[in-house]
Amino acid sequence: MTAEIIAVGTELLLGDILNTNAQYLSRELADLGITVLHQHVIGDNAGRLAQLVEEAKSRSDLLVFSGGLGPTADDLTKETVAACYGDTLRFDAEEMEKIEDFYRRTGRKMPENNRKQAMVPVKGRKIPNHHGTAPGVWFEDEGGRCAVLMPGPPHELKAMWREGVRPLLAERTGGTLHSITLHVIGGESTLEAKGGKLFANENPTAAIYAKTGECHIRITARAKDVETAEVMCHQYAENFYALYGDAVYDEDVPGLEYTVVRLLAQKGWTAATAESCTGGLVAERMTRVPGSSGVFRFGFVTYANEAKEKLLGVSHEVLEAKGAVSPEVAAQMALGALKNGEADVAVALTGIAGPDGGTEEKPVGLVWVGAATKDGVWVKKLTLGSRDRESIRQRASQYALDLVRRLTAGLPLRHARALTAEEALAGDAALWAGPAPEGED
Ligand code: AMP
Ligand code: MG
Repeated sequence: MTAEIIAVGTELLLGDILNTNAQYLSRELADLGITVLHQHVIGDNAGRLAQLVEEAKSRSDLLVFSGGLGPTADDLTKETVAACYGDTLRFDAEEMEKIEDFYRRTGRKMPENNRKQAMVPVKGRKIPNHHGTAPGVWFEDEGGRCAVLMPGPPHELKAMWREGVRPLLAERTGGTLHSITLHVIGGESTLEAKGGKLFANENPTAAIYAKTGECHIRITARAKDVETAEVMCHQYAENFYALYGDAVYDEDVPGLEYTVVRLLAQKGWTAATAESCTGGLVAERMTRVPGSSGVFRFGFVTYANEAKEKLLGVSHEVLEAKGAVSPEVAAQMALGALKNGEADVAVALTGIAGPDGGTEEKPVGLVWVGAATKDGVWVKKLTLGSRDRESIRQRASQYALDLVRRLTAGLPLRHARALTAEEALAGDAALWAGPAPEGED
């Protein structure tokens, strides 16, 4: 089955709002195995819309619309598309009752122009809207070509899609679908190259999406029932676990901080942070997670050198000799946070987030991450250059959380160097002789 997405709204053409509905619908359609041939954006103009519909309809089996179902004069998607599919609209008393009831419940008076929203297809069908007033509609012409119209507000569109449209389409395309998302630390190109043919499978399908400091791999299986599809997804996921190993940190989680908090709670550990270039971002991410109060102890934001000395006990001499952005200082910050934060694991960051402040020796994007437990101290070098400040901070926070994850779960620390506390406190240049632990992107 082929499809085209048509987002209707002059505000989209003016750049007032971002067409997030198109992205959502494209992904969902791909998930159903429906090929999206085009995405269109068009203003609230009946003539141009009718012309576009005729063109798109001549190429594709299904047209998916967003927007223009509202009560105002510029909302004309429904009547225009109805005509293109040989359908007309009728007044629906039941829909009218629902709309009136919606206004009664919110204590407002219904404007007269809302009657327009109660118009539904004579031949096609209406799709209930449980989150707003405008029902969706479904048209189908004699040749079996379909159009589905949904309201513009993204929360209404998504709910209607999930509850009323996706099941209908899944039925037509055969069977049901189930997806799981693997979260993997690392860059898209490396992971994709490594994954090779795994991303070209037909059922289940696997698609990779680049995020900041990680990738998502969405695996979708089609089967006769959900249980079978679920088993297929998990079986297919095994291929990725075998390939990427412990770079896969979790499945279906909002973010790495959720995994870290869960692992800390399982182990009965507490954590503390000492942050310079990330200004508290790691602490913020950890405390986003419900239940983090059980594992998060203390977050130090030590931007100035004096703060590093005073709050974390970083040595004045080491700061002078090595500079704030150095492995020695990262190690000492982590030790200070471990001790003063009375935690089982501490993580520290010191780096140059830019855009200014870089030198040849210490360029923008150089970040040292330190971590400490009672068993030792680790430092890891990140080279995140040629990115903007926000991106450097986000990525640095990601690798810091990954270090905590690895220490908590007892996983090997890739590219990180282990020291004893005495070595770290000595801040001796000789300790850093030999190859530097390079960070991967
Ligand atoms: P409409 O259904 O055309 O009256 O749209 C109502 C509201 O939904 C607009 O004012 C936008 O805030 C939002 N909206 C409409 N189309 C889109 C779209 N394609 N992507 C994201 N939001 C949208
Ligand atoms: Mg509109």
